[in-house]
Amino acid sequence: MHEAILYEPMEKKAVRCTACKIRCVVKPGGAGVCGVRQNMDGKLYLLVYGKASAVNIDPIEKKPLYHFLPGSQIFSIGTIGCNFACSFCQNWDISQLARTLREQLMKEKHIQDIEMEVGQYGYELSPERAVGLCLEKKVPSIAYTYNEPVIFFEYLHDISTLARQHGIRTVFVSNGYESEEALEQAGGYLDAMNIDLKSFRDEFYKKLCKARLQPVLDTIREVHKKGIWLEVTTLVIPGQNDSKGELREIAGFLASISPDIPWHISAFHPAYQMKDVPYTSRTTLEKAYDIGLAAGLRYIYLGNIQDEERSTTYCPNCGAALIRRTGYRTTLEHSFSNGRCLRCRTKISGIWQ
Ligand code: SF4
Repeated sequence: MHEAILYEPMEKKAVRCTACKIRCVVKPGGAGVCGVRQNMDGKLYLLVYGKASAVNIDPIEKKPLYHFLPGSQIFSIGTIGCNFACSFCQNWDISQLARTLREQLMKEKHIQDIEMEVGQYGYELSPERAVGLCLEKKVPSIAYTYNEPVIFFEYLHDISTLARQHGIRTVFVSNGYESEEALEQAGGYLDAMNIDLKSFRDEFYKKLCKARLQPVLDTIREVHKKGIWLEVTTLVIPGQNDSKGELREIAGFLASISPDIPWHISAFHPAYQMKDVPYTSRTTLEKAYDIGLAAGLRYIYLGNIQDEERSTTYCPNCGAALIRRTGYRTTLEHSFSNGRCLRCRTKISGIWQ
């Protein structure tokens, strides 16, 4: 447990959490929507500080990031809790755990046990140990992933501040609900983000994620404006967000910010509360890919499905294949060097070294 840095005191010992765009007002004894930030006697505490619920070293392509240190490994950390409650979450067992635990303990009237119970999930992993492991394993970057990073902001802030001193980069894999204050605080170390744009319909966000669309759109704009490297992912769910019209709106929105934002179009696998929904068909994914091209996006990729042709980075000027990907195996072609197409000298957007 650790006192939060992103909150403001209010009257009668209530506090306003300023970590994410929900901006919960939390009364003494209560917690925010994410379930891991609790008000204790007028101060806000992060209950999962130093408690990693999942730790892995992954290929960076798995995040997915295709234009950021391609072919490298990334140290990946998550905790329990989330500010969204997506019915299709692939990591629901950790992301929704704080919420369900709280509901259960409230029902059983074990309110005094909540902070201890929530704070006990995960491996002890201090910021020093996390950075030490990156150095030991020679991993050049850290991703906060599996659940929404900003809800455990103080933990990641300490890890990444230390990591920066050792030249280790930071990545957020996010649902796009970071507050301006969080992005500002992370400015000293945040190098790249992959933000989910799950739909272009507010009803989808309300019904399936217990969230809203507009804050996500705002974050995408803000992140791009700040110059943080940005890639966007859309999980295409049959019958929910796969109409041509909606996919055109998503692609058009991204292209209006920058045609250089890579768009990852990902296949849905039945999960959590949406086990009765079928897998996304190849035809639908190919349709989305073509829609992205027609909107003017230069880098579009299909994910969660084998498709070498549509996982390759092509030069947007001369069409040369520059980076090929088979599963998580990445090959930099001879036609690509130092972020440039060697055939026509066009600069390819991204962070390559
Ligand atoms: S991080 Fe958690 S407590 Fe803070 S505003 Fe978001 S949901 Fe509420």
